[in-house]
Amino acid sequence: STTPTETKCDVLIVGAGPAGLMLATWMAHCGINARIVDKRSTKIFSGQADGLQMRSLEILDSFGIADRAMKEANHMMEMCMWNPGEDGKIRRSDRVPDMPVGISRFLQIVLHQGRIERFFLDNIKKYSKDTLHVERAVLPESLDIAEDLCEDHSADTYPLTVKLRYLTEEEATPAQSNGSTVQDGLFRSNMAEDDTDDLIRKSREKQGTTEIVKAKYMVGCDGAHSWTRRQLGFQLEGEPTDYIWGVLDIVPITDFPDIRMRCAVHSASSGSMMVIPRENKLVRLYIQLTEIKPDASGRADRSKITPSTIISAAQKIISPYNLTYEYCDWFTAYQIGQRVGTNFDYKNRVFLAGDAVHTHSPKAGQGMNVSMQDAYNLGWKLGLVVKGIAQPSILQTYQTERRKIAQDLIDFDHRFSRLFSGRPAKDVLDESGVSMKEFKEAFLKGNLFASGLSVDYGASQLVAKPTDNITNGNTDTEQVTTKEDLSTIKLGMRFPSHQVLNQSSALPVPFQSRLKSDGRFRIIVFAGNVVSSPQSAVLRSFTDKLAASSFLKKYLYSAIDILTCHSAPRRDVELLRDFPDVLHPFDPKLGWDYEGVYVDDESYHEGYGDAYKKYNVNREKGCVVVTRPDQYVGFVGPLDGNEAWDKVETYFKGILVGE
Ligand code: FAD
Repeated sequence: STTPTETKCDVLIVGAGPAGLMLATWMAHCGINARIVDKRSTKIFSGQADGLQMRSLEILDSFGIADRAMKEANHMMEMCMWNPGEDGKIRRSDRVPDMPVGISRFLQIVLHQGRIERFFLDNIKKYSKDTLHVERAVLPESLDIAEDLCEDHSADTYPLTVKLRYLTEEEATPAQSNGSTVQDGLFRSNMAEDDTDDLIRKSREKQGTTEIVKAKYMVGCDGAHSWTRRQLGFQLEGEPTDYIWGVLDIVPITDFPDIRMRCAVHSASSGSMMVIPRENKLVRLYIQLTEIKPDASGRADRSKITPSTIISAAQKIISPYNLTYEYCDWFTAYQIGQRVGTNFDYKNRVFLAGDAVHTHSPKAGQGMNVSMQDAYNLGWKLGLVVKGIAQPSILQTYQTERRKIAQDLIDFDHRFSRLFSGRPAKDVLDESGVSMKEFKEAFLKGNLFASGLSVDYGASQLVAKPTDNITNGNTDTEQVTTKEDLSTIKLGMRFPSHQVLNQSSALPVPFQSRLKSDGRFRIIVFAGNVVSSPQSAVLRSFTDKLAASSFLKKYLYSAIDILTCHSAPRRDVELLRDFPDVLHPFDPKLGWDYEGVYVDDESYHEGYGDAYKKYNVNREKGCVVVTRPDQYVGFVGPLDGNEAWDKVETYFKGILVGE
């Protein structure tokens, strides 16, 4: 056979599911020389994950994708709980809002994973200027790591050697089970064996085409069976359960009154079901399959699972209501198990993200969201290190920040699955049953976690939290996050959104929408009451130092953007007169920048945002906040005082590369 070609790339991404595509999106927005390969010949077209939580939409919005998802998706409003009454028949026992009110400018929406992947692909194409594409039917067959080069992050060091194998269309297209015409996801389910090794073996026998890639970094986004994880010898820890669930995407024909609501239905003795209303009249049903049990090896027989076995289980649960369908879009089944990876990176050179490091039940709608958020955490760090802007040590924070989230997720899913799969208690003395009061309370509490907004990263060079109670970068006390915490500015948490007005155009905007994912940190100057002369002097003294900083000169506007929000009446203030130039820089070709300065004031048509109060910032004196490129708050300090600027500079000196 011919000698394989040898190529170089900075970041090699394996797997083009939600995690891989999020990472590729960052690479495109940061302008990185990256590649992304996937063993399958096509993207998915139906089924699979469908829920997008509030935080994921905030993130998608920062790349310019959320509006497409919002237009096509079904928006979730109410959650209804159905339980057996005294006569044993199911009845509606409660209604609650689908998500807590007032914590994000987005709501939870539902749209199938294939569409979300499409939005990513279009965005990657646009921002990479058509240079980054998913290379399909391509998979790695070997990974060699030059151990002695791993510490050397200089621009021409490529410690990773990966052999890629190109498959034929036929090899890369998995067979559908049961000879069914309905699309099914069983081949991707955790009830199926992985076919990666088989694909490699067959292609080798045929002497298929290969390529050698020299890479600086590699990210395994290759799902629960992760080949990359196996090469590193890392494990997922945890156990499967006996609970088996089927999933059906159908257009239902039914007299059940809440079919357009999200519902949790617990029947007296036929198991439970979750109803998720979807786009295009579709409804997803998650149905417990109590009659299918794993065998001695712990695995259940997939061939018994068809749309008709799943719907008949659903019919028993929802009786006395009728439920049938003419159209089925997709189906699958899975066995619940909660597992989390022991390691998220190898020597800061090979990283694992998404299902490759955490698996759990899909009902809480977390997998795709948390997977995308892993990659969202990692992408900008890799981007800035590759470009020589940030110190390579920031890469360590990927594992310290994300492994804790994965563990929280597993704990959450463990509690939620048990309550969901358990039989409802007959009365207070029925201890083996699940109390519906407990279920409701767990649901409401779990909802803050499920929104994705309660993520709170521990102290590190990226999060300037006090370091007294730190172990391995994580705070060792569990933080109780309340609804209020999510709307004020808190170190380690995402910068929340409140309405402010553009000083120059009076346009009301959600402030968070100004924090685009373009790879830049942001100094957010809460300038306070700028019409008072002492406060105006405080602002000038801060910005004079900022403009004079020799450390910052290299990075200002290119890697660090500045946003301002003041609290004086909009009409009493003039952009050019009252704000130092550094806050609205002048470009000889484009004139003044009008997008940098905002005000917390009444709008004409959208009411008053009351941003200072909601952010918990002093209206007179203001403060300084620094957000990381992923919108998490890294630094908070005063605007006044001789050392105000020095503290900001010290924060950046701990992260960015000096002279
Ligand atoms: P995957 O989506 O598994 O992507 C991995 C990719 O890597 C695949 O494209 C695969 O072809 C490729 N690959 C694998 N091995 C190799 C290899 N060796 N070489 C090259 N490429 C490889 N999550 C939610 O957030 N909300 C939900 O509502 C939800 N519902 C779900 C419903 C069901 C029925 C299921 C099964 C899952 C659901 N999930 C949900 C979970 C969600 O689908 C996953 O968590 C998510 O897809 C994980 O993303 P990922 O990118 O890490 O991995």
